[in-house]
Amino acid sequence: MNKKAVILGCGNSAGVPAIGNDWGKCDPNELRNRRTRCCVAITDGGKNLIIDTGPEFKMQFNSTDLSCPDAVLYTHAHADHIAGIDELRWLAELNKTVIPTYGSRETMDEIVERFNFLFKPSRPDLYVQYLQAHFWEETDYYKQHEVAGFKFTLVPLDHETVTASGFRFGDFAYTTDMARMLPESVEALKGIKTWVVDCAAYKSMNDRVHCTFEKIVEYNKVIGAEQVYLTAMGKGMDYQTILNETPDGYAPAYDGLEIIFDDTVF
Ligand SMILES: [Zn+2]
Repeated sequence: MNKKAVILGCGNSAGVPAIGNDWGKCDPNELRNRRTRCCVAITDGGKNLIIDTGPEFKMQFNSTDLSCPDAVLYTHAHADHIAGIDELRWLAELNKTVIPTYGSRETMDEIVERFNFLFKPSRPDLYVQYLQAHFWEETDYYKQHEVAGFKFTLVPLDHETVTASGFRFGDFAYTTDMARMLPESVEALKGIKTWVVDCAAYKSMNDRVHCTFEKIVEYNKVIGAEQVYLTAMGKGMDYQTILNETPDGYAPAYDGLEIIFDDTVF
């Protein structure tokens, strides 16, 4: 069955423009250079999942006509992926529900510790529980999961300082943030059609926590995605420049990009 992924944000930790209206090498007149922090909505037209809630989550969610997320999946606990989590409180309140959140044990332990009030109100006479935490253990990687009717394979990503979680939804995969991929993770994406992948390092040899374009091309020789979209892009990555520099089948993502995928291909 066809489902849709909407890239609500494809910026790196600073976004573009960075604060101070710093556009770096990016052309301010190119709309696709305006990048909010990484966030994706997965929808079947009724139910939906959100991946990550960064600092611009309210604005990103309000740009859609999506109903309350049926669940939120977290890639990892870096600030640019979780700093907007408090916005979920208002969605939970508006919809009179408790929103399930999922992440690895490492990720959710940190989120629950930092935002404990959302999961376990300190004053139950004043506040209610807004979020529920679900934990993926290491043994859950490379296995198929189903959340709110959406099936996906969970893939570990080496983000140098932490392990992030990547997702394969049928013939579409979303992998950010990562410095590199284990051969098993590359293997797990074999046969996808569309791949959205962290390329924050692009051509930099100094960025040790994000992925370079060279590595992505190497991985895709095995994976075989027809279309690869780069994400987690910063002010050094001008949309048209990157588009011109990359071969057919590779392109920078942009905020608002919609990808239709077949969730029956595994
Ligand atoms: Zn990160």
